[in-house]
Amino acid sequence: MPPSLPALDRAHHLHPFTDFKALGEEGSRVITHAEGVYIHDAEGHRLLDGMAGLWCVNLGYGRRELVDAAAEQMLQLPYYNTFFKTTHPPAVGLAEKLCRLAPAHMNHVFFTGSGSEANDTVLRMVRRYWALRGKPWKQWVIGRENGYHGSTLAGMSLGGMALMHEQGGPGVPCITHVRQPYWFGEGRDQSPEAFGHACAAAIEERILALGEENVAAFIAEPVQGAGGAIMPPASYWPAVKAVLARYDILLVVDEVICGFGRLGEWFGSVLYDLAPDLMPIAKGLSSGYLPIGGVLVGDRVADTLIEEGGEFFHGFTYSGHPVCAAVALRNLEIMEEEGVVERVRDDLGPYLARRWSELADHPLVGEARSLGLMGALELVDPTTGGRFDRALAVGTLCRDISFACGLVMRSVGDTMIISPPLVITHEQIDELVSLAREALDETARRLSGDFAY
Ligand code: PMP
Repeated sequence: MPPSLPALDRAHHLHPFTDFKALGEEGSRVITHAEGVYIHDAEGHRLLDGMAGLWCVNLGYGRRELVDAAAEQMLQLPYYNTFFKTTHPPAVGLAEKLCRLAPAHMNHVFFTGSGSEANDTVLRMVRRYWALRGKPWKQWVIGRENGYHGSTLAGMSLGGMALMHEQGGPGVPCITHVRQPYWFGEGRDQSPEAFGHACAAAIEERILALGEENVAAFIAEPVQGAGGAIMPPASYWPAVKAVLARYDILLVVDEVICGFGRLGEWFGSVLYDLAPDLMPIAKGLSSGYLPIGGVLVGDRVADTLIEEGGEFFHGFTYSGHPVCAAVALRNLEIMEEEGVVERVRDDLGPYLARRWSELADHPLVGEARSLGLMGALELVDPTTGGRFDRALAVGTLCRDISFACGLVMRSVGDTMIISPPLVITHEQIDELVSLAREALDETARRLSGDFAY
């Protein structure tokens, strides 16, 4: 008998963000096909994909229009680069569409293959911008603890994931991190409003400590995704904007997750009225059907790069890849035709908020929050109301149980996360919530069996 797929996988495949040895012992789940909001594995299980892949399959699985767009473009022109004064119709079409959807002051885009490459591009552009403005010493970038901006060296450095930094060795120099606006995790001794102000004040303190003349940019996700679906207190973004307005510092808003409707607007920057200078994008740009990312560039930076600059020595073989661009363009057209973003804002987001918040009555749940189609549950020990001992890995237990119940939920520590496709229906939201409750019940049962409280 030929070796099974899990056996071959174990023998040859090093997975991302994975303990290779542990996976080798446990084996991996083989996903074979998918349709709508459901994925199927090789053992015949159907799971509701509460994470839209990795926060990206916004239009859901099995969209024939995207397949056709890819096939047509592959026959027409499967590859050509956008270096050396060349371009092609999909790259032009996608650039024009993106700039029409983006805030009015953003009229240019630089294409990349992923969100991480987009953030590498951000760093290169920020440095280039200040050099062209005659201030090459303006080098420091302020990010946030527990922020996520990718896994390349620059992405990891801009992000504030402690475990990645511990492992990564020295990252890119001149990047520093301030506290995150994570009220449930770090601010419950204050009101959310006061905590939001305190987190914004931390940015100003860091700017002053470094010297405004040395600070190039502040980078943040509108809502932290990989950090734990962390919606900042309402006071946070207005206070951050007020801080940044006092200094000559670029604002980079990482829209890799929040962009393209996740929060019920085309961009998180629109929801929070942020007017960023640079917006890295990826994921939902193509609904994950093909890899593509980019950086939307505000006029302030673009004008300098175009008017003052010579050659920008940066780019990727697959910048603006024609097949990826054609699929992304079709994806955005469908989103417009079907009013996907408006539906998340006016219907699905409020419906999820109502149903999801019902889970707050569960003894294991300390907080149930959602915004648009992103949600989180904070797991707490019902006997104390506080966090479980980390070593118990309760979040991982709940995630594995959730999978077994037929729902893909992700765990970040003891925070359970959902980010389903934007085409989910009310009935499927009902199913998602009831599967999540089942997973919580079973987790509680296992814990009471194992740890007797
Ligand atoms: N920025 C954010 C906010 C992200 O969530 C991610 C991916 N989760 C990235 C950047 C990196 O994107 P990629 O994995 O496509 O490199």
